[in-house]
Amino acid sequence: MDLHEREGGAVPALNVVMLGPPGAGKGTQAERLAERRCLPRISTGDILREAVQAGSPLGSIAQKAMDAGRLVSDDVMIGIVRERLEREDARRGFILDGFPRTVDQATALDRMMDGRGALLVLDVVVPEDVLARRLATRRICGRCGANAAVHWTTACEKCGGSLVARVDAGAEIVRERLKVYLRQSKPLVDYYSARPTFRAIDGNQRADVVTAAVDAAISEAAAGGGVRL
Ligand code: AMP
Repeated sequence: MDLHEREGGAVPALNVVMLGPPGAGKGTQAERLAERRCLPRISTGDILREAVQAGSPLGSIAQKAMDAGRLVSDDVMIGIVRERLEREDARRGFILDGFPRTVDQATALDRMMDGRGALLVLDVVVPEDVLARRLATRRICGRCGANAAVHWTTACEKCGGSLVARVDAGAEIVRERLKVYLRQSKPLVDYYSARPTFRAIDGNQRADVVTAAVDAAISEAAAGGGVRL
């Protein structure tokens, strides 16, 4: 019997959504938070890139969307996330990175949260010119598809594969991705911002300073109840 069962299911879960445009550093923050709290980090971008590497039918849908800087359809994405959140390791909480990207995905997520506790929404905010610069120099591992951290030089620290430019790092695609973000995903901030569990985080600072701000936001939200520390 685990703590959750002993307390009759009373321990609130830490369910986090990391919002923010591509290049805001939310992936790094999501990974750090997941590690510290022993929760799964669920990155829909990583799930899609793995599908591309595996050459699965989902991979070919994802490849077309990514090559064009477009989003994969809501139906496909909602199905992927619903299935993932039903797994055992997500029962005590999760860190969602890259989902929801649209208001339709957000309303579907609210339905999935029924009976699972509060959703803490962290919006990582970075000015557009900084984002464009960061995105143009982004790399991934050519073998396992992991996003390269800034301090990785030539090899992937997860599997040792060599780093390559991301297919969506070209100037044109970068502009398109930011445009798609502004058009489709900014309404998410309007959707969530009135909630007591919404926090904006300044992402234009050193990564460890952002990490401290993320922790402070969680403590603050926990003080309001419903969120596990
Ligand atoms: P990311 O690594 O999160 O920037 O995602 C890379 C690409 O995967 C995006 O540009 C989209 O084409 C696709 N993608 C990832 N997550 C989603 C989502 N929630 N909805 C639609 N498309 C997504």
